[in-house]
Parts: sequence; structure tokens; C-alpha cells
Amino acid sequence: MRELGIHGCPKKRYKVTTNSRHNLLVADDYLTQDFTALLRRQIVDMKDGGLVVIVPPPNPFRCPPGPYERASMIAHYLKHHKPKSTILILDPKDKHSKQALFQEAWERFYPGMIEWLPGELTGGVKAVDVTNMTVVTEDETHRADVVNVIPPQQAGWIARSAGAAAQSGWCPVQAHNLASKLLPNVHVVGDSIIPGDMPKSAFSANSQAKVCANALVAELTDNKAFKPRLRNTCWSLVATGHGIKVGASYEATEEKIAKTSGFISQTGEDDTTEDDTTRAATANEANGWYAGITADLFG
Ligand SMILES: Cc1cc2nc3c(=O)[nH]c(=O)nc-3n(C[C@H](O)[C@H](O)[C@H](O)COP(=O)(O)OP(=O)(O)OC[C@H]3O[C@@H](n4cnc5c(N)ncnc54)[C@H](O)[C@@H]3O)c2cc1C
Repeated sequence: MRELGIHGCPKKRYKVTTNSRHNLLVADDYLTQDFTALLRRQIVDMKDGGLVVIVPPPNPFRCPPGPYERASMIAHYLKHHKPKSTILILDPKDKHSKQALFQEAWERFYPGMIEWLPGELTGGVKAVDVTNMTVVTEDETHRADVVNVIPPQQAGWIARSAGAAAQSGWCPVQAHNLASKLLPNVHVVGDSIIPGDMPKSAFSANSQAKVCANALVAELTDNKAFKPRLRNTCWSLVATGHGIKVGASYEATEEKIAKTSGFISQTGEDDTTEDDTTRAATANEANGWYAGITADLFG
């Protein structure tokens, strides 16, 4: 058959990854986009005394503090509008970013409202039944009013189909210039890469893009590139005017983007507790960073 140029035409097979025919009770949270508005609507429509279940993704994922900041923001709304409601976080992980800081803030601002259960306790989420609005773990079935599942993540299709992604689903790159380790003349920055010690964040992506551009200009002009300086800070707002943060500086080594030093807001476990003025200043920094990066990106 091959010699005669004849070949079969198998039917295209599609793998169903989302179920968009449901009645909007659960939104797949691959991208924020319209989903954010839908989640807001669901929470506004929820009865007082309702249960919001959040299922964060396993590592690695974009914006490590994201699901926990989201829980804080939902709690802030519920506290003022539906105070009998609760939030249950069914985490596949046993720990998460800024954990002590979030838990301290939840106890202070939303006592009894947010419960976080680690994977080692629940065995992780085994099923979500959209019709009956239940979330099933190894030993329990939770009847929810709003469910927010943030699925496991990988680099976008464009990166994977181009051959820039490794088996893990993420793109390996050289730390000093963000050149793909798999494709010649291709550079990858941002969430898609295997970022060494850096978290996947907009701050990191922006920092990597500048290192990459600097390396490319040096290469194209036959000049020496400046030493890569990579930085990240992840701010989270936990209540009005109350911010917490974690951040670090990084260098490019042969092996990876490696952390050189870091900082984190202080919890109240000892005398180093930050006062509300510091937390208000951190919230202001977060707003300032947002204004800065949007101006940097969009002019
Ligand atoms: C809820 C939430 C809160 C966050 N908060 C923060 C924060 O406070 N601070 C922070 O630093 N980071 C935050 N992040 C993380 C931040 O959004 C990401 O790390 C950042 O956007 C990564 O940038 P990127 O360019 O790598 O990817 P993206 O911003 O996802 O950009 C990829 C782009 O490629 C496009 N694309 C995909 N496929 C194709 C294709 N085939 N053809 C053409 N275009 C395509 C997509 O539409 C998208 O616009 C948050 C993320 C979430 C989800």
C-alpha cells in the first residue's frame, strides 16, 4: 500500500479535557479570563451558609500563593455579605506558599471561615460530581455550593507542539539566556519554562524576559552580556490594606536559575510580628508593583 501511495484515513480522535455542556455550576479554571467573572457571580448568588470548595493544583503551577489569596478574597466578601458561609480548601499538597502567614491572617480576619486540608490528610480529590455538586476525597464526600477546581498545569500547547517541552510538560532552558535546551534559536520565558528555584509568576516572567533580551542583544551585536540578575516578589492581599509578601534574588548557574537570597513577611510566632503599618505598606507596594508592571508591559 505504501509503495502505491495508499494509506488509511482513521477518524480523528478527540480527548475530552473539559465538559463545557454543564450548567455552569463548575468552571474549569485553566485560564482566568471569563472564569473569574463566573466564579464571582456564583459566589454572589450563593446562599448565606453555603460552602465554597477550592481545589488548588499540584506543583508546579502559576502563582503559588494564588489559590490561598483567592480564598482570602472570597472570605473577605463572605464575611461582609454572607457571614455564615465557609470555605474548604482541599489541597493535593501538604504545604503551600506563605502558609504560616495565610493561616495567621485567616484566624485573625476570618475566624472559623476557612479550613485548609492537606493531601496527606484527605488523600486528595478523587472526583467532582457537577450534577450533585459533590467533591469526593478518599474518605469523605463534601456537598458544595460553589466548586473551584484549578487543574494540574503544563506549558501551553504551542510550546509542547513545537517540541520545546520535555516529558514533564515544561520547557527546559539555559539559565543565563533562557535559550531552549531542546530547540535551536528558540528562547522561552515565563510560566512555560522549568524555572529552577524561581516561582511561576508575572514578576519572574518579566525578569526572565529582560535577561533574555539582554543576552540576545549581546549576541546580535557581538558584545558581552550583563550578568543576569533575576528577581521575584509575590505579594498577596489577605484583607483590605493588609499585604504579605515573599521574594528572592537569583543567579544563573550552569545547572539552573538558583536562589541567592530571599525574604518573607514575618508571622507572629515570636517578637518579630509585623505591625499593621508594615502590612499596610506591603499592600501599597503590591498596588505600586501592579501599576509599574502594567505600565512596563503596555506603556
Ligand atoms: C489568579 C492569578 C493571580 C496571579 N497573581 C499574580 C501576581 O499577583 N503577581 C505575579 O507576579 N503573578 C501572578 N500570577 C501569575 C501570572 O499571571 C503568570 O505567571 C504570568 O501571566 C506568566 O506570563 P506568561 O507570559 O508566561 O504567560 P501568560 O500570561 O499565560 O501568556 C501566554 C499568552 O500566550 C497566549 N497563547 C497561548 N497559546 C497560544 C497560541 N497557540 N497562539 C498565540 N498565543 C497563544 C495566551 O493567550 C496568553 O496570552 C497570577 C496568576 C493567576 C492565575
